[in-house]
Amino acid sequence: MEIRLENLTKVFVDEKSKSETRAVDNMTITIPSGKLVGLLGPSGCGKSTTLYMIAGLLNPTDGKIFFGEDDVTDLAPEKRGIGLVFQNYALYPHMTIRQNIAFPLENIKASKVKQEEVKSKYAEINAKAKTDFESKFGSLKETDATKYAAELEKHQANLEEIKSEYQNELAIAKNFIHTEVEKYAKLVDIADQLDKKPGQLSGGQQQRVAIARALVKNPRVLLLDEPLSNLDARLRLQTREEIKRIQRETGITTIFVTHDQEEAMSISDEIVLMEKGLVQQIGAPQSVYEDPKNLFVAKFLGTPPIAIYNGHIKSSKLNIGKNTVFSSKEFEGQDSDVFVAIRPEGYELSETGKLKIQYDFVENIGRDLVLVAHQENSLNSTFRIILQDIKNLTPKEVSFNVKREKCFVFNKETGERVF
Ligand code: ATP
Repeated sequence: MEIRLENLTKVFVDEKSKSETRAVDNMTITIPSGKLVGLLGPSGCGKSTTLYMIAGLLNPTDGKIFFGEDDVTDLAPEKRGIGLVFQNYALYPHMTIRQNIAFPLENIKASKVKQEEVKSKYAEINAKAKTDFESKFGSLKETDATKYAAELEKHQANLEEIKSEYQNELAIAKNFIHTEVEKYAKLVDIADQLDKKPGQLSGGQQQRVAIARALVKNPRVLLLDEPLSNLDARLRLQTREEIKRIQRETGITTIFVTHDQEEAMSISDEIVLMEKGLVQQIGAPQSVYEDPKNLFVAKFLGTPPIAIYNGHIKSSKLNIGKNTVFSSKEFEGQDSDVFVAIRPEGYELSETGKLKIQYDFVENIGRDLVLVAHQENSLNSTFRIILQDIKNLTPKEVSFNVKREKCFVFNKETGERVF
């Protein structure tokens, strides 16, 4: 199910000061059907507000929300067909895992509805039998008694039929619930934990139960609000892989809210990067990483973070201080101060390299070696450079060539990418 937001806007007004917060500002995006989209950005950028408007828990100030062709902007949350998972799992502690997952079905499926129906039918038939009996009892003759007995028998048979119909329905409903619970428990890999209580499960397992409970209603859309925030580092990693797998297996359109860029990059088909209520960039994680539209996007994505330098373009040269990083036709005719940003993997050691950098120490983090470095023109007090091989690296000042595709140039006033 494709989700489309058209000019979606939410303005919060503080009652006392009358000051306004544009939490979400004119957001127009399409979430493709069957994809996992990461809604990403720093704290307070409007991610949760967007999600809650999609869920129907908050009314937009302006704009529209479509699920496929359906305009759901004014639809009640329970009618939207969404599964919602919060960071704190929100399981019922006194119920077993099986009961927790079954809960949404117990509420909506045939059993309860039928029970009510059958109860009222019982009452109706009993009442009719009673009035019939009373009206006939006064003038009871032998023939009437026979007629009445036949009538009563008919009612009785009727009752039995309804009772067995109800019991059938109940068995079907119970069976259905049992099958669905088993199916989703298996999907989220907690089928062997069904008789335990939430307190006996790890945080990661509890979150998977919450996901199963959201999916059991067969929603059109799955909305996850920071679902990994309460987990420790190892469980976070494991659970995010599980979420990716579950999403792939079910093919359900999923929106995943997080402020953690690595998390969003690792599991999303697409990311929507927000700041101050505005969408900054949308795209596949790798393409946004490799082609950031502005300085905010370049800075927000990537670990270790990108290094930013004060630079200048003149006479077809891109300079950082006295170092000419590139001479290229692309800079022809330009004369301006710029920000130059270089990804940590964008440096190549070279004795003839143009960019001189001082490094403070080397971190050996397994596969890669990381130089912790500084440079007088850099805005970062220190930054990191990833290298595969640093043999014979003794001097404290090192020369680098810069890989063009790992280097971005931004307008100093607007932060927009210029090269
Ligand atoms: P976080 O990651 O911290 O949850 P977020 O990106 O989800 O942040 P939102 O919770 O959507 O951000 O908040 C966006 C902005 O709207 C913030 O400035 C926040 O203070 C404001 N805001 C959110 N809810 C309300 C509210 N009910 N009343 C007033 N302002 C609100």
